[in-house]
Amino acid sequence: MTASPESVRAELAGWVGPNWDPGRALRDWRELLAAAGWAVPSWPERWYGRGLPGWADELVAAELTRLGAVGTPVGLGMALAAPTILAHGPDQVRERLLRPILTGEHTWCQLFSEPGAGSDLAGLSTSAVLDGDEWVVNGQKVWNTSAQHADFGMLLARTDPAAPKHHGISYLALPMHQPGVQVRPLRQMNGRASFNEVFFTNARVPKHNVVGTAGEGWRVALTTLAHERRFGAMRPPRYDERRGRALDEARAEAAAHFAVYAWYPQRAGRVDLVIEHARAAGRHRDPVIRQAIARLITMQRVSQWTAERARAERASGRQPGAEGSIGKLATSNIAREAARVHAMIAGAAGLLTGPASAFGGVIAEVLVSVPAQSIAGGTDEVQKNILAERMLGLPAEPRPDKDLPFSQTRRG
Ligand SMILES: Cc1cc2nc3c(=O)[nH]c(=O)nc-3n(C[C@H](O)[C@H](O)[C@H](O)COP(=O)(O)OP(=O)(O)OC[C@H]3O[C@@H](n4cnc5c(N)ncnc54)[C@H](O)[C@@H]3O)c2cc1C
Repeated sequence: MTASPESVRAELAGWVGPNWDPGRALRDWRELLAAAGWAVPSWPERWYGRGLPGWADELVAAELTRLGAVGTPVGLGMALAAPTILAHGPDQVRERLLRPILTGEHTWCQLFSEPGAGSDLAGLSTSAVLDGDEWVVNGQKVWNTSAQHADFGMLLARTDPAAPKHHGISYLALPMHQPGVQVRPLRQMNGRASFNEVFFTNARVPKHNVVGTAGEGWRVALTTLAHERRFGAMRPPRYDERRGRALDEARAEAAAHFAVYAWYPQRAGRVDLVIEHARAAGRHRDPVIRQAIARLITMQRVSQWTAERARAERASGRQPGAEGSIGKLATSNIAREAARVHAMIAGAAGLLTGPASAFGGVIAEVLVSVPAQSIAGGTDEVQKNILAERMLGLPAEPRPDKDLPFSQTRRG
């Protein structure tokens, strides 16, 4: 029988009823969820799923919340590492690393960018050399969100400098808690410190922690990047007021995770505050401000509808593609426009921070946070290149070093 939203809802409710117990440890509950295939129901049965269509994931997550139960953890493990490992394997990596992500036992960070390799990510030079049963890693990464808390890093490292730059890279699962890994926080212009520099000095990775195949990590990284483009605003899960060990642990887990991302709504421009801000500042009858607000909200609505269309296509089984780049560009444009409108409304007062300022300093934080929106996860210019080449079929950028051995390319 083909699954319908109604049949999935009914089957889930029938399973949650006898199994959900808020007094249980959160990990134990999530073990049950994974074993029953309800953690990510669109995944294959062999890998903790039920082989259901893509739409079932969102539906089940929402239903679990509605039934008062807890779903899978928030964070980069679920959003980026798990779908990448599922897609590329091999099986022994799936067997060891997927389950602890689903239960929340292991959290992850993304160790891609380097001081000399951001947009030109394939130019990375952190090295990993096989020594017996371990890869020995040396080099530096930068801008690594949540690296200060993570148990594992999705590490891109050069394992064959004699190969052309896109081919000598491996995608390794690096254990973060070890003497060879040093994490140093970076202070941002909004005062937060959500990302870090990460230094490797003879750090060790077990030989079998290669996702995909050694030397072919670039293909694997593209999967992570495609998922990163589509994962937009993360929202804290809503748990009701009831107490119980599983609920308390889930609340604590979400609070720790979202502390790092507390400024992300400001990074997106806080369109939700614009009308209230105009009213509070007495500017809501100003025709120029009203035009600007109308334009901004129109941009946001159009972008929401595009995202809805993309979601519907994904739900029908399509992999994330160019719509991720379109959505990411739209998010940057909206954030920039929102900052402009907030600045028009506030005038010089928008620079004030602290509790006595407009919206307790939120407006000032918007103004210094939106630039990050057009950089994180691939800059606007890079998204435009992707759209130009892959969607519009325009000539590719010249890439003179593409086929040269990496060791012979010019860097920096
Ligand atoms: C909030 C935030 C969180 C982040 N989290 C992580 C993380 O968790 N893990 C991680 O690994 N990284 C992370 N990053 C890093 C991010 O991926 C990089 O900053 C991004 O890829 C850009 O690289 P770069 O900073 O080196 O800029 P560069 O690549 O040096 O770019 C500088 C400028 O040149 C432009 N440019 C570069 N190449 C081209 C081109 N070919 N055509 C046209 N213009 C071009 C860019 O658009 C940009 O304007 C994060 C960044 C931010 C802002």
